[in-house]
Amino acid sequence: MHEALQYTKGENSSVKCSLCNHHCTIADGKHGICGVRVNTHGTLYGVTYGKVSAEAVDPIEKKPLFHFLPGTLSYSLGGIGCNFHCEHCQNWHISRASADAALLRDLTPDEGVNHALSGGSASISWTYNEPTIWHEYALDMGTIARKKGLGTVYVTNGYMTEEALRELAPMLLAFRVDLKAFSDDFYKKVCGAHLQPVLDSAVLARELKMHIETVTLVIPGLNDSMEEMESLIRWVIDNLGPSTPMHFTRFHPDYKMTNRSATPVATLEKIYKKAKELGLRFPYLGNVYNHRYENTFCPACGEILIERQGFSSRVCGLDGSRCRNCGETIEVVTDVP
Ligand code: SF4
Repeated sequence: MHEALQYTKGENSSVKCSLCNHHCTIADGKHGICGVRVNTHGTLYGVTYGKVSAEAVDPIEKKPLFHFLPGTLSYSLGGIGCNFHCEHCQNWHISRASADAALLRDLTPDEGVNHALSGGSASISWTYNEPTIWHEYALDMGTIARKKGLGTVYVTNGYMTEEALRELAPMLLAFRVDLKAFSDDFYKKVCGAHLQPVLDSAVLARELKMHIETVTLVIPGLNDSMEEMESLIRWVIDNLGPSTPMHFTRFHPDYKMTNRSATPVATLEKIYKKAKELGLRFPYLGNVYNHRYENTFCPACGEILIERQGFSSRVCGLDGSRCRNCGETIEVVTDVP
């Protein structure tokens, strides 16, 4: 148990959590929507501080992050719980697990950093489940990690509040955010949340100088209309910049959403082409094994810059951050600052 940051005390021992945009008011003895922030006698606790459900060393490409330390390993951690309730969750076994689940084990922030360093990782990623609800733990570990020269990555739904994101900013370098759709209706019905706070977080992350990449899981019949995808891409170009890598990934039936078929590859290719046409410099396809649109091409001359196969990558056309062929500047973070 670790006392939470980002909350205020109310009447009758209630508390109001301001960590994410649900702004839960929590009565004594109860927990918030995420299931892991608990009010005990008027004090809010993050009950999963230092409790880990999954620990692995992943290629950074698996997050996916294609323009942040390409070709490096990222020490990756997951806890339990989530502040979204997505019907198609691919990690439901941990996102919907209860706080006393037997799958949890202890790992202090110092131990996490040491594991990352000894395993040869260039960064730590808080991933697998939503890191926002692990705020105090990620903040403590990330602060130590930055002092030791490691990069830091959130793989997030972007639903944290402005205050929470500002608190993370001194330690957080990369913000890999899901843009699950471009309609509030989708966010309400499928995730139990709203779209606008996610967009606001992405804009703030950019202002706070974080590296941003977006992921959109394209689900047939739910968010795959070209009209919606076009609006989403235009929004990213206008608000996050045309050099923001956008990943469009293939849906596979999962969890409570098994009544829809996998996304046709042709749909993804159409979105990729539309993104290029609209001026996005680095669109990518994902969950489509060995597709050429997983590679990075120079937006100026078309030369291949980073070649990818599955989760392995090979930087083949870059001199530092310039295209070896035409000299175009390519927005890619090659070293931990
Ligand atoms: S993190 Fe979000 S979902 Fe969890 S208690 Fe706080 S406001 Fe509610």
